[in-house]
Amino acid sequence: MMFNRVAIIGLGLIGGSLAAAMRARGLATTIVAGARSERTIERGQLLGLIDEGSTDFAEAVRGADLVFLAVPVSSMADAMEKMAPGLTNTVIITDGGSVKGKVIEAAQQALAPHISRFVPGHPIAGKEKSGVDAADATLYENHRIILTPIAATDPQATEKIRALWQAVGAEVLTMEPQEHDRILAETSHLPHLLAFSLVNTLARQDDSLDIFRYAAGGFRDFTRIASSDPLMWHDIFKENRDSVLRSVDLFQQGLNEFRKAVEQGDSDALLTIMTQANSARAHFLALSARTSYTAAQQLNDHSNTKASDKTAMSNTASGHDRRVEFHLQPGGSLNGTLRVPGDKSISHRSIMLGALAEGTTEVEGFLEGEDALATLHAFRDMGVVIEGPSGGRVRIHGVGLHGLKAPSSTLYMGNSGTTMRLLMGLLAGQRFASELTGDASLTRRPMERVAKPLRSMGANISTNNGTPPVQIHGGSPLKGMHYDMPVASAQVKSAILLAGLYAEGETSVTEPAPTRDHTERMLAGFGYEVIRDGATSKVRGGGKLSACQLEVPADISSAAFFLVGASIAKNAELLLPHVGINPTRTGIIDILKLMGADITLENQRDAGGEPVADIRVKSAKLKGITIPAELVPLAIDEFPVLFIAAACAEGDTILHGAEELRVKESDRIQVMADGLTTLGVECEVYDDGIRVRGGQYGGGEVQAHSDHRIAMSFAIASLRANAPILIHDCANVTTSFPSFAELASAAGMNIRVEQD
Ligand code: NAP
Repeated sequence: MMFNRVAIIGLGLIGGSLAAAMRARGLATTIVAGARSERTIERGQLLGLIDEGSTDFAEAVRGADLVFLAVPVSSMADAMEKMAPGLTNTVIITDGGSVKGKVIEAAQQALAPHISRFVPGHPIAGKEKSGVDAADATLYENHRIILTPIAATDPQATEKIRALWQAVGAEVLTMEPQEHDRILAETSHLPHLLAFSLVNTLARQDDSLDIFRYAAGGFRDFTRIASSDPLMWHDIFKENRDSVLRSVDLFQQGLNEFRKAVEQGDSDALLTIMTQANSARAHFLALSARTSYTAAQQLNDHSNTKASDKTAMSNTASGHDRRVEFHLQPGGSLNGTLRVPGDKSISHRSIMLGALAEGTTEVEGFLEGEDALATLHAFRDMGVVIEGPSGGRVRIHGVGLHGLKAPSSTLYMGNSGTTMRLLMGLLAGQRFASELTGDASLTRRPMERVAKPLRSMGANISTNNGTPPVQIHGGSPLKGMHYDMPVASAQVKSAILLAGLYAEGETSVTEPAPTRDHTERMLAGFGYEVIRDGATSKVRGGGKLSACQLEVPADISSAAFFLVGASIAKNAELLLPHVGINPTRTGIIDILKLMGADITLENQRDAGGEPVADIRVKSAKLKGITIPAELVPLAIDEFPVLFIAAACAEGDTILHGAEELRVKESDRIQVMADGLTTLGVECEVYDDGIRVRGGQYGGGEVQAHSDHRIAMSFAIASLRANAPILIHDCANVTTSFPSFAELASAAGMNIRVEQD
């Protein structure tokens, strides 16, 4: 048993809920209440919360090894004085008061002999209801408890209280008492004050009845907390007076700025305030849950309709922990016109270059996937006003090459390696310092291959043993240089060229093999001169970028699923409009054509420096091939779905020279081989590739291992399977192709998504 005899002084919502939770989990032999009224004791016994009770607090605590004080903060001193004569010399005392400074002062006076065993605490959980009848055994589950031990507190006592809260399902944090009171004043006391004040101000208007009758949902959401107990809040505003006043003053400053912007019709100021607030909220939800932006947005929406932010913040379920399964029936076909989402690489760069340009850049077809959103939020955090995204439309109010502002906190990149690596180059040339971090998987990825060459240009960058967080110290003048890349990487090349925009003189990069050249093409599209000479690209610092209109081409990597799908399906004909056909990305088309696919490029044109075309693809009889080595790097992301094409082709398809596939989001060779084998496809795995034998295959359950491209590839396989396919672990499809299942189903595939 964790405790023998527990005394709860103040058996209301907070005290009663701890009694109920300890009861439910068998954490105490006897629970006693110290209450102000007999009625509360009777109700406590009737509800099964306590064994006995007394209105004499000294009596209630006699023989207790734990005392929990849960009376209003203004009554804490009085309750402590009353109970002190009954305390034993070993008792551990804790409390649940919402203000810590004043409660600690009271304990130093009234509980002096016991002060080393007093552990001040505050559960960040509650309801609008109060009193013993509101007690709830689950109140603290998945909520946070802040402990604020003082210098005199015995660490063993703190540990015991930590264990108690953890045992009732809470997460425990520790903090300095003053810090607690300041932070709570800003995040809890101020919002309550505003809610009470707004309702009261409107209620005093003559037409208040009408106002409330027609009040919209926003009013209800904003003022929900004005239903909280006035007595308790009266205490809090009195007992945490100084911190509350400071936060009201701070708010008043912000309100005045907002007022001025409205008065002057200052669109820029209005949009700046609101987009920054928007992004700050997504940022803090993402940081607090260590999760992705999409998941944070879902938490955000959830908290708008239900419960409170406290619930949202304490909910650590991330987008990637969600169970998402694809269920596919065999057969189906693909027909019609299918617009796949915008190119990820180009979406990232449209935000980056649009932010650094002079003027307003309008983007259409922006990919609203997690990775590109991470880039968008990072620029909002640096003061750039970005409207949208809404239906793929984004307007970026460029601030010019030197207009970015220091972010107020760490920039969070989610799972996006592209954002982090490209921003390292761009931020290396800024006057301000910045820190970049990301989710658990991104913080394991190597960053030195970018940091090192940037240091040679004069940047002051540190990494955590080669991985994020990355600190960019800022303020170091950069010097142009020539860099011979040891390994072909579009991200390294782009980071150096972006740093080159801020460097003195010329910066040039030579690549050992062709890599994606979106940065070079798009810089040119934004009016910045890039000199290209064979494998070398060169920029000169000190120029400027001009805003432009950009229709992001559809992503050929996403189109790839449907190029294969329509090739292998019976009676299929698809038109995929406005797909990017940058020659560094079209390996998939060349390989499929070698296999006999019926693919034609129509209406070829240029969009913001990038070549695009409408692609028509029809059912075809595919044959196995040995994939030419020079096409391997140009189709590296498309191999999972090419293996499905191979499984439907006549004869063997053989791939070598693709060892990089083993270190992508998953080991794509092994994971695909496992899934293909489950379906009954014969394959042989090599260190650097695979041999797939085409023919008939069945269905079964396959694992996507959180890899979006694996999940979508096996979904495409259903078009030729003889039995249903169930694909587990598909949540990450949102990173690159959030609308995949919807589009596939609209075009004729039998796909159903199950999730929770
Ligand atoms: P509550 O439901 O109103 O319960 C307060 C309890 O204290 C009642 O049992 C009441 O006795 C007793 N009490 C009231 N005035 C007293 C006095 N002058 N002397 C002795 N006992 C007195 O309030 P609560 O929400 O549980 O709040 C308790 C503490 O938790 C407060 O310090 C509050 O700041 C803190 N807290 C509250 C929340 C929340 O959201 N509610 C969240 C975190 C922390 P009777 O039953 O006889 O009236």
